[in-house]
Amino acid sequence: MNRRKFLEKSTLSTAGILSTPLIAGERQGLESGNSPNPSSIDLKPIVIATWDVPNATEKAWSVLQNGGSALDAVEQGVRIEEADENNQSVGKGGRPDRDGNVTLDACIMDKDSNCGSVVYLQNIAHPISVARKVMEETPHVILAGKGAEQFAYSQGFEKEELLTEKSKQEWLQWKKTAQYRPVINIENHDTIGMLAIDGNGDIAGACTTSGMAYKIAGRVGDSPIIGAGLFVDNEVGGATATGVGEEVIRTVGSFLVVELMRQGKSPQEACRTAVQRIIEKNKDKLDFQIGFIAINRNGETGGFCIHPGFSYRVYSGKGHKNNPSSSYLAK
Ligand code: ASP
Repeated sequence: MNRRKFLEKSTLSTAGILSTPLIAGERQGLESGNSPNPSSIDLKPIVIATWDVPNATEKAWSVLQNGGSALDAVEQGVRIEEADENNQSVGKGGRPDRDGNVTLDACIMDKDSNCGSVVYLQNIAHPISVARKVMEETPHVILAGKGAEQFAYSQGFEKEELLTEKSKQEWLQWKKTAQYRPVINIENHDTIGMLAIDGNGDIAGACTTSGMAYKIAGRVGDSPIIGAGLFVDNEVGGATATGVGEEVIRTVGSFLVVELMRQGKSPQEACRTAVQRIIEKNKDKLDFQIGFIAINRNGETGGFCIHPGFSYRVYSGKGHKNNPSSSYLAK
């Protein structure tokens, strides 16, 4: 079924959108249940991350296994992807803006609702660690651009060239036509968001990205915006997002997911409802991808996206697994 036909068939009223048969790949059990599963208590500690990033979740898991905090786990976990030059949507090796500058966005949030964020950060390979320093060493939440960079140097971070030869060559190729077209699930923009619960039952989250490839200089997406790209409430759970940030900001997506869990929805249902909210606001133009993942304080997890193709990694006492996310549209 093509997209238009799909849209014609579905009534884009709230009731229509909720029509279960139209939800692709919904799984039963832990992830789709509404009420907390008592056995899931055993799932803590646990870490989940957007996309299939086994090295990142492995690192976070080892921190948790050694008695580390959820905050340390998510920071250490996403740093793996920030350092990986082959991941061209995060950290060093990230694709540049349309002028050839790699600019990074990241945020972090802990169990006490402390948070820190950097936007439009250049020349620093680990924006998540700078965001943590903003949280811990300043009275502020967000530092931007040159100020964030200067702050990073003052905290001992080193200046690094972030534009790799591979990303540079691709950008030069792109410049020949200079057309920006987000391609669903092709890594021209994919954020790494991570959520963890530690042995004490405390929750933390981290989110990091180089943003949309070839964006207008100065553009900032949802990923460093607390409430949009990431939100944690230790009493409830956490959520994080990937995809076209403008749409996530418009609905304050991750905050919405957490608030839906507060109202009693499972992580899976909360993610699905947040995606549906975005769909309601867009109706006829679903040619973009959004994916949410969430965890509640029992250790239940969920994920939902618009187009098939998104997945998320879960590492718990029950194993380490990549989960294809349920999606609003079918293949
Ligand atoms: N959410 C990021 C942004 O809009 C990019 C992505 O995850 O695809 O900057």
